[in-house]
Amino acid sequence: MKVHKYNLILIIFLLGYFQSYAQGNLGDRLLGAAAGGLKALTFTNEDAAALSLQAITKLDAENPVAAKTDPYNIRLSRLFVKHVSEDGLRLNYRVYKLKDINAFAGADGSIRVFQGLMDIMDDNELLAVIGHEIGHVANQDSKDAIRASLGKQALLDAAASQSGRIAALTDSQLGQMGRVMWSNNHSRSQENAADAYSYDFMRRHGYNVNALESAFNLIAKGDNGGGSNIITTLFSSHPDSAERAATAKNRAIADGVYKPYVKIVTPVKVKAPVKAPVKAKVPVKKRPRKR
Ligand SMILES: [Zn+2]
Repeated sequence: MKVHKYNLILIIFLLGYFQSYAQGNLGDRLLGAAAGGLKALTFTNEDAAALSLQAITKLDAENPVAAKTDPYNIRLSRLFVKHVSEDGLRLNYRVYKLKDINAFAGADGSIRVFQGLMDIMDDNELLAVIGHEIGHVANQDSKDAIRASLGKQALLDAAASQSGRIAALTDSQLGQMGRVMWSNNHSRSQENAADAYSYDFMRRHGYNVNALESAFNLIAKGDNGGGSNIITTLFSSHPDSAERAATAKNRAIADGVYKPYVKIVTPVKVKAPVKAPVKAKVPVKKRPRKR
C-alpha cells in the first residue's frame, strides 16, 4: 500500500494528538497508563468480552446450572438455538435453576436465564426477554457495566499487567463484575434500546410482538410484590415495567399488529424430569393403551 508523504505526516501528527488526548482523559474513553511510560490503551470490546467471560465462568461454577438433559435446558435450547449467531454475534445460553425472575447478558455473548423466569413465561414471552438480552449484547451495554463495576484503577491494573493487555482479575473483582451483570445495572436509555431491539427481533423472526407487552406486565406484577419470596431483578431498574409494557403496546398499535396477548397453552411450568420415553434399557411394563 502506498502512503503519500503528506498523509504520513498527518498520521504522525494525529497519533501525537491522540496520545496526548488519551493521557489527559483517564476517565472517559481511554485508559492512559501514561505515568509508567506504558502506551495508551483503549478498553476494547474484546477486552470487555474477555473480562466478561471470566466473570461468567465464575458465576457458572458457583450457581446451579441446568444440565443438558434438564427439561429447562431443553426448553431454552429449543427457543434459543436458532439465535446463537443472531446479528453476527456469538451467543451462548444456560439456565440457572434459581427461583429469581431474572435473566442477564455478558459482553462475551453469554446469556443466563433463571428458572423462576421460565416458570412464569410462555415461549413467546421468553423469546421477548431473550431478544432484550441479545439487545444488551449487540449494544455493548455490558462493557459500560464492567468499567463501572471495576473502576478506573482496577482496569488500569488489569491493562498494565501482562504486556499491556487485559489480565486475569482477582477473584473478588470477578465477583464484583458478576454481581453487576446479574443485577442488570443498565441505564434507562440502555433498557429502552434493548426493548426496541427485542421488538425488532420479534418482528424480524415472525414471533408475536405482543408477547413483549405481556412479558413486561408479568414483571410489573412481580414489581408490585406479587410474590414475597421471589426476587425480581429483571427490569428492576427504571423505567418501570408498566411504562415499558405501554411502549411495546404502542409500537404494535402503530405497526397495526396489536392484539391483546393470549398466552400459549404449552406447559409454562416444566414438571420434574419427564419419564424416559420408550428408549429405557430397563424393561418397562406396558400399560394398557388409552382409547
Ligand atoms: Zn435489560
